[in-house]
Amino acid sequence: MTTSRYTEQEEAARTTFRRFVEKKVLPQAKEIDEAKAFPRKLFVEAGELGFFGMRYPEKWGGNEAGTLAYLLAVAELARGNLSLAACCTMQSLMGTYFIFRSGQDSLCERFLAPAIRGDKVGTICMTEPNAGSDLDAMTTTAKEDGQCFVLNGTKTWITSAPVADFFTVFAVTGDKKELSIFLVESGTPGLIVGRSIEKMGLWASLTSEVIFDGCKIPKSHLLGNKNQGRDYLREILAKIRLTTAALALGVGEIALEEATRYANERVQFGKPIGKFQAVSMSLAERATEMEAARHLMEYAAWREDQNLANMKEASMAKLFASETALKACESAARVFASYGYAMEYPVQRYLRDVRFTLIGGGTSEILKLVIAKEMGL
Ligand SMILES: Cc1cc2nc3c(=O)[nH]c(=O)nc-3n(C[C@H](O)[C@H](O)[C@H](O)COP(=O)(O)OP(=O)(O)OC[C@H]3O[C@@H](n4cnc5c(N)ncnc54)[C@H](O)[C@@H]3O)c2cc1C
Repeated sequence: MTTSRYTEQEEAARTTFRRFVEKKVLPQAKEIDEAKAFPRKLFVEAGELGFFGMRYPEKWGGNEAGTLAYLLAVAELARGNLSLAACCTMQSLMGTYFIFRSGQDSLCERFLAPAIRGDKVGTICMTEPNAGSDLDAMTTTAKEDGQCFVLNGTKTWITSAPVADFFTVFAVTGDKKELSIFLVESGTPGLIVGRSIEKMGLWASLTSEVIFDGCKIPKSHLLGNKNQGRDYLREILAKIRLTTAALALGVGEIALEEATRYANERVQFGKPIGKFQAVSMSLAERATEMEAARHLMEYAAWREDQNLANMKEASMAKLFASETALKACESAARVFASYGYAMEYPVQRYLRDVRFTLIGGGTSEILKLVIAKEMGL
């Protein structure tokens, strides 16, 4: 009798990345964070295990795993170190998706295949200083000039930008503010990686501004159809939200496990603190919520694989998983008390890192608006 609700492929993905995390990531999770540097060695190793190709066909070096298998792998990486997981998901999905989606073999050969091998690092550039939740306010433009497009504008909060080999960039191309997506290679004149952003968490996932100042790129670097960027944006947002739900699950679950272990070990007033109901009930509530978050994510993943509309479900999964994971990390910090405040224990890092999952891919407020709209409100 099987003891797993997952398919063989899903279980294999989970086990592969759990082993990787336990052997390679957890023993140095603190050092990875404190180095505040791109974790290239582990990033490449995750690539060698097939992580970057999970959403892509064999033709480009991928292994075309199902959505749930992919999300289970993401959650395992997030248990190890959320910065590493964030860099890896940027590579496996957000930073590479539109190259694949464009269907241009020459670009897939030059950029997607090396990204899947971990040889080239990719990014996605949507956010601007005055266009965060409101991406309609984007002002970066791409104007046709003979055989080229010329990009002008500033993007911000771009994950992996300081180490990137290529940038997939949203820019305004139409009179009615229609958007298109472009591929810009690092080293292109007029592309400037600007100031780095110091963050409260995700220290090993580098983030910076990216400036386009008369940046000329060949017309062949238009990804997909001109002026259809808004449709593409909607398409990827559901995927980003599901991925972010998995990131939140991973960090929430490990925080809860650490808190449970500590509650059994730490003795006060003559018994393990986990025997006090104030502690055990709080952890029991968090465990129930985390399990519910996992089920929501799995349902949305199933819908994606059935090609059913899943914007509402992916948004629900991300909203619930990130808010729940934040509560789990907060409860863990309470259980650890002073040790939860100490830099030598990981709980403070979980609490700092998890906040990212409430922002990236849409804030909780924006997700509620999206869900309400999908409900017909
Ligand atoms: C660590 C990190 C990495 C990131 N990486 C990337 C990346 O690689 N590429 C990229 O393009 N972007 C990236 N982002 C940017 C991210 O997508 C945006 O930060 C996010 O979309 C929110 O935008 P904002 O921070 O400008 O907040 P704002 O849009 O300014 O929102 C501020 C507050 O107002 C609320 N709000 C806004 N509008 C409404 C409304 N209509 N109703 C109710 N409340 C509202 C928000 O919920 C929020 O609480 C990253 C962000 C972080 C933190």
